Amino acid sequence: MNSTVGKAQTTANISYTVSFPDAQAHYADIEMHISGLKQNNLDLKMPVWTPGSYLVREFAKNIEGFSANINGKTVASPKINKNTWRISSKGVSSVTIKYRVYAFEISVRTSFVDASHGFLSTSGIFIYPANMLHSPSTITIKPYKDWSKVSTSLEMVNNDPFVRHSPNYDILFDSPIEVGNQDVFGFDASGVKYEICMYGGGNYDKERLIKDVHKIVDQEAAVYGENPNRHYVFIVHNHLRGGGGLEHLSSTVLGASRDAFGTEKGYQSFLGLVAHEHFHLWNVKRLRPIVLGPFDYDNENYTTNLWIAEGFTEYYQEIIVRRTNLYTPENYLDQIAVEFNTLENLPGKDVQTVAESSFDAWIKAYRPNENSNNTTISYYNKGAIIGMMLDLEIINDSKGKYSLDNVMRYMYTEYYKNKKRGYTDAEFKKGFEMFAGKKLDDFYKNYVNGLTPIDYNKYLGYAGYKITDELANSNDATLGIATATTAAKKVIVTAVTRGTAGYIDGININDELTAIDGNPITDASTMLNDKKPGDKLAISLIRDGLPVNLTVTLLRNTRVKYKIVPVDNATPAQLAVRKKWLSL
Ligand SMILES: [Zn+2]
Repeated sequence: MNSTVGKAQTTANISYTVSFPDAQAHYADIEMHISGLKQNNLDLKMPVWTPGSYLVREFAKNIEGFSANINGKTVASPKINKNTWRISSKGVSSVTIKYRVYAFEISVRTSFVDASHGFLSTSGIFIYPANMLHSPSTITIKPYKDWSKVSTSLEMVNNDPFVRHSPNYDILFDSPIEVGNQDVFGFDASGVKYEICMYGGGNYDKERLIKDVHKIVDQEAAVYGENPNRHYVFIVHNHLRGGGGLEHLSSTVLGASRDAFGTEKGYQSFLGLVAHEHFHLWNVKRLRPIVLGPFDYDNENYTTNLWIAEGFTEYYQEIIVRRTNLYTPENYLDQIAVEFNTLENLPGKDVQTVAESSFDAWIKAYRPNENSNNTTISYYNKGAIIGMMLDLEIINDSKGKYSLDNVMRYMYTEYYKNKKRGYTDAEFKKGFEMFAGKKLDDFYKNYVNGLTPIDYNKYLGYAGYKITDELANSNDATLGIATATTAAKKVIVTAVTRGTAGYIDGININDELTAIDGNPITDASTMLNDKKPGDKLAISLIRDGLPVNLTVTLLRNTRVKYKIVPVDNATPAQLAVRKKWLSL
């Protein structure tokens, strides 16, 4: 649902000025001018979340000094709920609002301002008039001291980089703005002007980066058959240790570690992030679950389809890098095996379906606790595996005529371009079935809405591969706990895995382990040396300040470490699927 559905919308002329007089103290100062008003009450709202990051973040908590001015006089502007201010505007056509936003959270989805730059994650910066989400606005940026550049996908007004136009609030809230002295370089690809804007320095090689990002852009546009933007901006924040990414319609914000570009592993991982966020400009920003746009900025927006929106994007981030030849087939298969191992070593795989994981992102994935691994899975992880399964299924069933690419392109064309709306569960399922040439009811029952163990060898077998488990013959004993050692050399339990000895025999999170069979524990990593599954241990610990003694029977460590290897004597049909799947 959208909060504006069914309500009359009015229009007004809206402009903002953003200045940074106290950038060093992490403030952005906003002045908003609205004219052409015709209503009795003007409600001004701040979104509670930012699309793409499924958590209510309460951006209004960062606002202070809110004031409203009509005809030169300050007027009352009481809050009527956590994110709404009300101004009596009867007989008034224009209002000026001022407020400050405290911006000191470093992440790709939150604003950050200091003396070196201003990053405006717009849904946490700009208030909007209720029921006017369709209104255009003008944004003027007044930089701090020597800041010389503005990087955003919002179009310039009169060729002035410091004045930008937003056609409506869905676009404004999807267009982050970077202000400062970022290093800007770019290239043209498939008719689109690409800009890479690097904040924070780093050991990146511009020429190499341009060449490789260009290849990724081309491969991704080829999946959908078109590149819908005219201008696309990569805003990259390089920190001592950084990471993460957030997709937008015509831009993305990426976090990176400034020294990571210098190693092959670090560089490949950055390219994977580029491939992921850029793929989103189609998958989720345009081809999207039906509730994800127009958005409700006041509430959670629930969908069971993040396994497609995020999981398939994770699947494509790897296979696109393979298609550019920046990964060898072996690199790629190793990445897929990591996805298998992540899922299979998570007890939550027997508890939460991937559709449930999507729906509950707001309260589970984005609010993890010490028990999350026992009860939840990641829709990124299982969604990527399902993407691989369906890709192989479609390639195999269609004898190499189609792949998952055809489904993505068809759904993009049919729903985003033709019907101009998002898709439902049933509609995406139909898309898969069209190219697989068969019903997928059982597939959905087992893997999307069910907890059936995945038959990896069935799907990999289509391409003449199978899994082997490098730990199959190990007989290591484990307590099934994770620990951390404090500065005072105390060994504290930080996680207990469901089904393990520690879980069954009652070790708790936050227990301080003191002795095993009477011997003091000094090093958690060696405390089970020489122990075997079936051994009974007397464990002494301190819980909430009191001594506790437990008898724990060790069990075999059941973790898996899969590797994907070719089957012996693959048939021509298997080799044909392999060739298509891995772009050999
Ligand atoms: Zn994503």
